[in-house]
Amino acid sequence: MTIIHVRPNDCVRLQSIASLFSAEAKVVTVTGAGISTNAGIPDFRSKNGIYSLGSRHLFHSSVLCDPERRPIFYKDITKMRQVANSAIPTRTHNFIRDLRDAGKLLRAYTQNIDCLEEKAGLSTNLRKGPGSRSRPRRKHRPRRVRNYRVNSQPRILDDARGVECVLLHGSLRLLRCFLCSKTYRWDEGDREAETLLGQEPLCPGCAEVSAARAALRKRATAIGTLRPDIVLYDERDPRADSISTIVQHDLSLRPDVLLIMGTSLTTDGVKFLIKDFAKVVHGRGGKVVFVNLTKPAEKTWTNVIDYWVEWNCDAWVEDLMGRRPAIARTAKETECATAPPQSTSRTLKRLGSRENPVDLTLI
Ligand SMILES: [Zn+2]
Repeated sequence: MTIIHVRPNDCVRLQSIASLFSAEAKVVTVTGAGISTNAGIPDFRSKNGIYSLGSRHLFHSSVLCDPERRPIFYKDITKMRQVANSAIPTRTHNFIRDLRDAGKLLRAYTQNIDCLEEKAGLSTNLRKGPGSRSRPRRKHRPRRVRNYRVNSQPRILDDARGVECVLLHGSLRLLRCFLCSKTYRWDEGDREAETLLGQEPLCPGCAEVSAARAALRKRATAIGTLRPDIVLYDERDPRADSISTIVQHDLSLRPDVLLIMGTSLTTDGVKFLIKDFAKVVHGRGGKVVFVNLTKPAEKTWTNVIDYWVEWNCDAWVEDLMGRRPAIARTAKETECATAPPQSTSRTLKRLGSRENPVDLTLI
């Protein structure tokens, strides 16, 4: 089955794709750097991407073994983090949230580390797991749980849906200890100032253990340093098992549509992920849609991808919403129906907003 090439003026085929997003459709999305370029974050392999700027070394694990390149890595990745922190989600990020709000999103998977999915309102805490529901759920009123309180305010939990967006390559929000693997917020204390200077912050957990031993006049133990909690090329993801559990769960729910956007499809892990989902989607008569400006390699992707939409992701989303306004309408209705009561609303305003959300489960 050859890949059907769809151009922006191909109304008939664009309408066929739009019809896939029916009321009952279960959708899995897989995204890459191409969905964040309109937010001002450079991608990797395009003409003006990171690789073209001479930063190919930035994301390879060998950088951590090289004492000369290691400080440069810390400086560069901190600058990238600052760019990501000031960026706002694109139309495509918000569309994925709208799919969630319309009850169509089974799961979002992203290779991006910029946390824009979180800013759009999707949960990214992997500790929530796959969730306990057998179908995608519309966003609903979060339930208050007694005995869990944050600064005397009710803590809000909504674990039934599990994590909504799986960060396949980690994120720029956290740092991880080389030694004990505990994670810490990058924005706490002087950590960002240190990494911007090419320095490696010390791990508070390791330091505490070592100090406790020293107080007992025992031999002090080594104190690890912190590194960005992202997956570099040639590295194994320490969260691989957790992610695999979620993928298996989602495969068992048999999605109808696999929507791939803004990725060059070159990372091995993502290739396997897409092929596994495509098999299940095709098994139930569904379709795989790929939206990207670069053509997928026919040798690799024939019989996997059904439609290649050669278009900017945001522009295609805008077109799709014109053809399926029900997605945005349903999402809006859900949002209104689930607006928190006045007192909770004030609480949320203090803790964070949709534009600048706070992951309540981490507080
Ligand atoms: Zn440590």
